[in-house]
Amino acid sequence: MSASNSLAHADITTLLHPYTDARAHEAKGPIVIDRGKGIYVYDDSGKEYIEGLAGLWSVAVGFDEPRLVEAAARQMAKLPYYHTFSSKSHEPSIRLAEKLVEMTPENLTRVFFTSSGSEANDTVVKMVWYMNNALGRPRKKTFLARTKAYHGITVASGSLTGLPNNHRDFDLPAIPVRHLTCPHFYRFGLPGESEAAFTARLVAEAEQVILEEGPETIAAFIGEPLMAAGGVLPPPEGYWQGIEALCRKYDILLVADEVINGFGRLGSSFGCVHYGFTPDILVASKQITSSYMPLAAIVFSEAIYNAIADNTARIGTFGHGFTASGHPVATAVGLENLAIIEEKDLVGNAARVGAVLQRELARFADHPLVGEVRGAGLIAALELVSDKATKAPFAPIGKVGAAAYAAGHANGLIVRAIGDTVALCPPLVITESQVLELVARLGRTLDDVAAQLP
Ligand code: PLP
Repeated sequence: MSASNSLAHADITTLLHPYTDARAHEAKGPIVIDRGKGIYVYDDSGKEYIEGLAGLWSVAVGFDEPRLVEAAARQMAKLPYYHTFSSKSHEPSIRLAEKLVEMTPENLTRVFFTSSGSEANDTVVKMVWYMNNALGRPRKKTFLARTKAYHGITVASGSLTGLPNNHRDFDLPAIPVRHLTCPHFYRFGLPGESEAAFTARLVAEAEQVILEEGPETIAAFIGEPLMAAGGVLPPPEGYWQGIEALCRKYDILLVADEVINGFGRLGSSFGCVHYGFTPDILVASKQITSSYMPLAAIVFSEAIYNAIADNTARIGTFGHGFTASGHPVATAVGLENLAIIEEKDLVGNAARVGAVLQRELARFADHPLVGEVRGAGLIAALELVSDKATKAPFAPIGKVGAAAYAAGHANGLIVRAIGDTVALCPPLVITESQVLELVARLGRTLDDVAAQLP
């Protein structure tokens, strides 16, 4: 048995993979990714792929950045681990907290670290509940989220997520949450409805839910500025302004989940900056370290900090924290990664090269399989449909998407298939000529899928 066959055998006999049909996996085995270089990764047979999703929407600086390796090695050698419980601290987490406060909107002044986006959103739920108990409003606990939202998979964050497979058979939602209509005009706009009328309808729906539940019970509205894992869904014009106004009117905290949008993905520093709204809480992860190390950060307002801090003084502690909160190696890598993003102007690159990506993808609007092309900066998607005029999806949903995913691999391109939507989110270091190569591989992929259809 070759080394790779024995690896595959060990994989299928030991691992339960996230987001995988385990029985199908046992039959077909893993694709073992062996190494990376720039925007490319290589499997263990040496086949090259453009990583069109930057791993999990997350590797900003490419797959072989030596400065991050050196930053990790330096910190490992000096202080590989220390915690931040009980007033202990260390320089990397202090410096990164300072940097995040500097980079994010002005009203966000305080930072709490976790290791994943899910832990961060669970922490947001607990912080908001703790704060409202401290403020003597114990009924103000319900979160507003949206269908197709992705906020993670732990018990509270998975409850905020609005995707059926994250709830089904997991007994979720398990916290008080109301999921509002997904702000995707192409799918949820009514026949004859204008985009402005769609926005107004969704904002009115949110207000109706707030009034139905009672504003004194609604704690927060959480949303990805541009919804990513649900299908790359830019909001309709004016949506965030409408939601922000409602939050202010009813004293509801506004949480921007920037786990994918943050640090330049849309061609702006953050999604909330891109769409022009000001959150009370901003959640960041993924591109914070280019995912070389697990890390997430919650950046929040002084008012929230003060309410929580006063309560810790009453109780004697903030009874929340993770062994790895602010891990020194992860925060050291985060600092170096953010320095690279600034020095190489990767936010500007996402705007400039992203415009090329969006322009080139727009040409696929004429392709017989493509219903909608959408995106912003360096994140985009093509929604594949069986009938362009009626927008009718393929049946069963997901089969054509799976075919596109497989054809992408055959053509040396890793994409994400979300139902029948093909999502792209390449590393922020991608160049214009590499975008053209990505688009060429995508074109061959779509033609191969079209040729397979009856
Ligand atoms: N929030 C958003 C917007 C995400 O896209 C994700 C993951 O994709 C998460 C939260 C959860 O992050 P993690 O997978 O690190 O738990």
